[in-house]
Amino acid sequence: MKAAVVNEFNKKLEIQDVAMPDIGYGEILVKIHTCGVCHTDLHAAHGDWPVKPKMPLIPGHEGVGIVEQAGDGTGSIKVGDRVGIPWLYSACGECEYCLSGRETLCPEQLNAGYSIDGAYAEYCKAPAKYVAKVPEALSFEEAAPLFCAGVTTYKALKISEAIPGDWVAIYGIGGLGHVAVQYAKAMGLNVIAVDIKDEKLEMAKDLGADLTVNGLNTDPAKAIHEKVGGVQAAISVAVTKKAFEQAYSSVKRGGSLVVVGLPNDELPIPIFDTVLNGVSVKGSIVGTRKDLQECLELAAQGKIKTMIETKRLEDVNEVLDRLEKGDINGRIVLNIS
Ligand code: NAD
Ligand code: ZN
Ligand code: ZN
Repeated sequence: MKAAVVNEFNKKLEIQDVAMPDIGYGEILVKIHTCGVCHTDLHAAHGDWPVKPKMPLIPGHEGVGIVEQAGDGTGSIKVGDRVGIPWLYSACGECEYCLSGRETLCPEQLNAGYSIDGAYAEYCKAPAKYVAKVPEALSFEEAAPLFCAGVTTYKALKISEAIPGDWVAIYGIGGLGHVAVQYAKAMGLNVIAVDIKDEKLEMAKDLGADLTVNGLNTDPAKAIHEKVGGVQAAISVAVTKKAFEQAYSSVKRGGSLVVVGLPNDELPIPIFDTVLNGVSVKGSIVGTRKDLQECLELAAQGKIKTMIETKRLEDVNEVLDRLEKGDINGRIVLNIS
């Protein structure tokens, strides 16, 4: 089968003919139709993070396709079903995190397109228990970004504990941020979108953002305090330290910063302000299977529209170059078959 493969960090991905995956007990083989390109795939190809991916690696954790084979033990997932394979490829099912519905914290988890091969390929195998069925109302292309960008931002907003009527700021209106704006609106929140590119802020406005701030030449935290007195929660999905510092400073007393973007960097936090203002800083990693179901359901109800541009698998290097330059509006999905 054809796949896009990272053979060495910081080198171009190669389109190669690789062996088809063999399925075992509880696993399915999915013929991939589309796969979204997440900034995490760029981090993986660059070896940015302290924990390195497998190598060689087939990236891709927003793969959507049709089940072509289902072995024994695949439960309700049948041949012909339309499913997506998320970042949380599998978890142990037995640890304290799995048992308490927090399987994204499982120390034994595997991650699609990182610790195990993902969906930049014609076929991808997956454990049936961890895939999700795609609602009929969504096309393959529309659905793909929900499997990471959607579930991650929906979960981050839940973790923020902001309630209807609160103001939230979304820092970084890229693949994740453009759906974050919509989930926030669907949850009854008031949204301030922050980016450093005007075209992204235009998109945020079209998608329902109440206010926008370009952080390139103005201090967004100052602007946010002036306009609304600070936000109950700031969600940072940008990939620069500066955005995290600004997001922290945007939060009002008793509010929270939710850390989602993953630049390989540190976030120095002033102890005095954090204590006196009662600010919480929370990490948020993708979402559970339940979060994924909820996030897909909201999209199926027409409340979330992924803004997508489609490309071929062969264009993957050009797509990753554009992602690095911040040159993509919404999400690019690779049409694979
Ligand atoms: P993206 O490249 O599509 O979006 C990043 C956006 O940030 C761009 O619109 C860019 O213009 C904007 N930006 C850059 N500098 C900024 C600044 N100073 N202020 C405001 N905005 C700024 O990336 P993406 O696919 O949305 O992913 C974003 C990050 O989230 C990546 O680091 C990715 O690895 C991470 N991620 C985390 C999780 C998780 O579970 N925590 C899940 C998926 C992705
Ligand atoms: Zn992702
Ligand atoms: Zn576990």
